[in-house]
Amino acid sequence: MEINTAQETVKKKKKTSSQVKKNATASKKKTQKNTATTAQKSIKPKKRVDKKSVIDVSKDKKSAKKTVAQKAAVKETKILKTAKKREVKKEKKPTSKRGETLKIIPLGGIGEIGKNMTVLEYGKDIIVIDCGLSFPDEEMPGVDFVIPDITYLTQNADRVRGIFITHGHEDHIGGLPYALRDINAPVYGTRLTVALIEHKLEEAKIKAELNCVKPGDTVKKGCFSIEFIKTSHSIAGAVALAITTPVGVVIHTGDFKVDYTPIDGEPIDIARFAHYGTKGVLALLSDSTNVERAGYTQSEKDIGKTFERCFSAAKGRVIVASFASNIYRIQQIANTAIAFGRVICFQGRSMIMIAQVARELGYLNIPEENIVDVDKLKRYEPDEICVITTGTQGEPMSGLTRMANASHNKLNVGKGDTVIISASAIPGNEVGVARVINRLYAIGADVVYDNMADVHVSGHACREELKLMLTLTKPKFFIPVHGEERHLHQHARLASEIGMDDNNVFVMELGNVLELNRRKGAITNDVVCGSVMVDGSGVGDIGDAVLRERKQLSQDGLVTVVVTLDKKTGKLLSPVEVLSKGFVFVKSSEDLLNEAKNIATSTAELFEGAHRSEWSTIKNTMGSSLKKYFFNKTKRTPMIMPIIIEIEV
Ligand SMILES: [Zn+2]
Ligand SMILES: [Zn+2]
Repeated sequence: MEINTAQETVKKKKKTSSQVKKNATASKKKTQKNTATTAQKSIKPKKRVDKKSVIDVSKDKKSAKKTVAQKAAVKETKILKTAKKREVKKEKKPTSKRGETLKIIPLGGIGEIGKNMTVLEYGKDIIVIDCGLSFPDEEMPGVDFVIPDITYLTQNADRVRGIFITHGHEDHIGGLPYALRDINAPVYGTRLTVALIEHKLEEAKIKAELNCVKPGDTVKKGCFSIEFIKTSHSIAGAVALAITTPVGVVIHTGDFKVDYTPIDGEPIDIARFAHYGTKGVLALLSDSTNVERAGYTQSEKDIGKTFERCFSAAKGRVIVASFASNIYRIQQIANTAIAFGRVICFQGRSMIMIAQVARELGYLNIPEENIVDVDKLKRYEPDEICVITTGTQGEPMSGLTRMANASHNKLNVGKGDTVIISASAIPGNEVGVARVINRLYAIGADVVYDNMADVHVSGHACREELKLMLTLTKPKFFIPVHGEERHLHQHARLASEIGMDDNNVFVMELGNVLELNRRKGAITNDVVCGSVMVDGSGVGDIGDAVLRERKQLSQDGLVTVVVTLDKKTGKLLSPVEVLSKGFVFVKSSEDLLNEAKNIATSTAELFEGAHRSEWSTIKNTMGSSLKKYFFNKTKRTPMIMPIIIEIEV
């Protein structure tokens, strides 16, 4: 998934608190689908976790977590920037113990695009693939982002041998600062991926063992051997994983597409997938994002021509918005800018950060003399300037939006500028993007965007590429991942179309435990799974009740009723006060609020002489009569909050 690492709306609050509270109520226990087929039934299903035991498990979690956290605090961890700890072992055929099965458990990224996380377990060994976050939907007001519930892993923290990251997008690395507080396991990724994780962990003040690997490397952890295979995607350093287990090889594609003309000159390592296909692949877990699209995804190189056209036609400044993590795209924009004699200025927090990291690591090649700080742009004519910024999703705090709204303190878009939005809107962001485009036109800029020109290509494989992956690897079992339900089912159908046995294709749900041996597979169990919401420094302390209140407040506002009573007699000591926020315009609603005051006063008087123990009854009665009154008058249901102040006379 191409999530803008910029998401400055999310980053505005730093998540540096050590407070780690997980909310078991946010977890959901999905009911097991009766998907076992005749062949699958032959593995004896284990006893299912019932609702009660899930609750018990959540309670136990606290104590389990404490010991893990303590351990983590004591154990000194180090960051390894080089590959010196790489453990390269010879491939040898693993032996499976009798009756032991491989378990594949998705904790995120199934039935959703976001917070990818998959667990592989055999015997005492567990490895984790990816640890991402997702962004909240409109049902989660005020929530910054969402991470997977990792209760299952914290309960088995001492068995987690390693976390293997396929690439540096937020939906694959964003959950790490939280997971690594509870799980003290080494993390493996390619150089750019590790650099992005390192930055993230530094911000969160979390230490962990980070290990750099290269495509072609193999890491041995417990009974697993994990080989990294080069793929193409919209971020540099993306890899697939070929995991040799005692019952066979499991391939996880990560996010991928097949690009024969990549910007870095290194195409996806098709030969390696074919190698495993020839040897025999037990299971394939493959990216389903673009399964609804026919044909092939265009090469990243194809959009270079559009950039050339736009730059040659531009009379003023050229401002290009892109995903900060799409290094290939940034390289193409920079190449075009330099070819047209323009200097490059990076804008937006994450764009500046990633451009710097990628240049240091050699992923991005832009000579120092072509890069100019925003303060020095005045020295150049408009037709000598190219600005590369964040803000492709219309995020309110992003570089482009601030430039469009004239709220950027150093750089604003003006008449004669050309703005290229080099991305498509992620579903849900269309309105924000359209707003920015309208605004840019209104101030006289020329805007080039996805609907009108080839300024963006996807980073995910379309149907023909997905068929190629299935055909190359020839898996016995297939599990579509990285997709909403519709993507997973379409991908399952695609596998069936090219001849896979339907009984060997598993459309899984979060928390399902898929058990595989060399011959058979079945979903046998469920583990605790779900979403943990992060708001500011609070992790998991937002539950359904808080969300409901936030929604009510945002829709109909708040009415506060302040009643001052004599502590002993319950007598009303001063006039009742009614205050409202976000409910009605107070000045033109005096009658309404005065009548509310009368209702509250008569309720208080009704209870005169009542004992303190009855004061909650006063509040409830007041609340329900005011609710009824306001609804009759306004058809709105504000949140009503009666407050009793008791005074000893
Ligand atoms: Zn992704
Ligand atoms: Zn991705």
